[in-house]
Amino acid sequence: MNTSPPVLQVDELRVAIGQREILRGATLSVRPGSVAVVMGANGSGKSTLGLALAGHPRYRIEGGSAQLAGADLLAMNAEQRARAGLFLSFQAPPDIPGVKNNLFIRTALNAVREARGEAPLDAFDFLGQARAAAKQIGLPDTMLGRPVNDGFSGGERKRNELLQLALLAPKVAILDEIDSGMDVDGVRAIVGLISALRRKGTAFVVVSHYLQMIESLEPDAVLRLGEGRIAETGGLELAREIARTGFARAPQAAGAAA
Ligand code: ADP
Ligand code: MG
Repeated sequence: MNTSPPVLQVDELRVAIGQREILRGATLSVRPGSVAVVMGANGSGKSTLGLALAGHPRYRIEGGSAQLAGADLLAMNAEQRARAGLFLSFQAPPDIPGVKNNLFIRTALNAVREARGEAPLDAFDFLGQARAAAKQIGLPDTMLGRPVNDGFSGGERKRNELLQLALLAPKVAILDEIDSGMDVDGVRAIVGLISALRRKGTAFVVVSHYLQMIESLEPDAVLRLGEGRIAETGGLELAREIARTGFARAPQAAGAAA
């Protein structure tokens, strides 16, 4: 049993986009090395949760709190959150034409290393690590020399997110539908990387609808987001029940969907 204190603790988080309140009191906590799977109907606010925690300026925090390793996450800007050890993989990773992938990732990694009190990696050492990680993930080396995600396929973008995850080795990783667009080898790479990183202490919040992958992850908790909060908490049996009967099975969810 994992008894270490939570590395991410979110309490009663309320988040609005424009005039609309999307999260209305979301509470969750994740311990080092553990995996929490978040499920929820389309539009239930799963991406909002990740983006708000990462500090996207469009998501307005209206209330609640979030602590990362005991520090006030919501008091930090997005960069500070990343330096403090938070990582978010985007559901739809954007491309950054004109910025080379290897320079982008090395810059991010060295910023994080600086925050950890580690020496920066030079281009040579970085490339060695990046190539090894890319190989594990099934991303061709040539992708390192191209602009970030520019012309990448859906699966290649997701692999590029995994590459960043592997190199940054964050305290907390929020993976937003990382499996969508991935082939079977890609999904295997996700499961392998999550297993390896959690052994080193990374905590995961994994948003997914994909039962087979969820089962392979052996999650510590399965959470259902609904009505702007964590409406249900369970284990794999909850994921299986959702897969079998859908999100409308809960009376509240059925009401909200009407
Ligand atoms: P999920 O990831 O669970 O599918 P999201 O967090 O992406 O859901 O979205 C939650 C709700 O917020 C949806 O109803 C969505 O339409 C709305 N939403 C997301 N982004 C915006 C935006 N920029 N402006 C207005 N509404 C938005
Ligand atoms: Mg989403």
